[in-house]
Amino acid sequence: MNQQLFEKVDQYISNLVAPEDSFLQETIQSLDDASMPQISITPTQGKFLQVMMLMCKAKRVLELGTLGAYSTIWMARAIPSDGKVITIEYDPHHADIASRNIAKAGLSDQIDLRVGKAMDLLKELIAANEDPFDFIFIDADKPPYTEYFELALKLSHPGTVIVCDNIIREGKVLDENTNDERVMGVQRFNKMLASNPKVTATIMQTVGAKEYDGMSIAVVN
Ligand code: SAM
Repeated sequence: MNQQLFEKVDQYISNLVAPEDSFLQETIQSLDDASMPQISITPTQGKFLQVMMLMCKAKRVLELGTLGAYSTIWMARAIPSDGKVITIEYDPHHADIASRNIAKAGLSDQIDLRVGKAMDLLKELIAANEDPFDFIFIDADKPPYTEYFELALKLSHPGTVIVCDNIIREGKVLDENTNDERVMGVQRFNKMLASNPKVTATIMQTVGAKEYDGMSIAVVN
């Protein structure tokens, strides 16, 4: 693979259609400053989420896996002023940094950051009869992706778009003998997605500034 070329082209696309402002740049910097991993989505992926959100007129958004809120900020900027992004993060340190980045970006009114395990908080949202979400972005721990997706379906309506990140894992999904639980998690998820009658879905490979990977895009039938 020509990673150098992919990175250059990603930069070219990002310069054209997804330039970062100072808040997004500072959010990325905040991860280094707080010794957090640089595993946010890329600017071009942030813009891709925004375009998909606009296509489905997303007003209510749910995210699993906030990290420093880089993707959250991209998404919150694509909802109307009376919209809401609920984002769920397990690690309190990540949540603390995310909360500061959200405040700096002036998005505290649009973003509701909840700290806890995605599985628990999804069940809480369902039990609380939360209104359905228009757009759901799953980007937390990989082993329970199948369960996250099933719970997300209970928080959806026909037309809800559900996007799941990191499901190709540098092509490791092809390895039937893997014992990497993240790879096994996405293999199980991809099979479920392919045969789930509740959605129409596809999977796209992603190359660029980050490792070779992929995202699934599903629309609820
Ligand atoms: N969406 C972020 C972005 O693009 O800016 C990146 C999210 S990062 C890939 C995954 C995040 O999920 C980490 O911050 C991690 O702490 C969090 N996480 C891991 N397990 C979790 C769980 N069980 N529930 C909620 N969050 C979890």
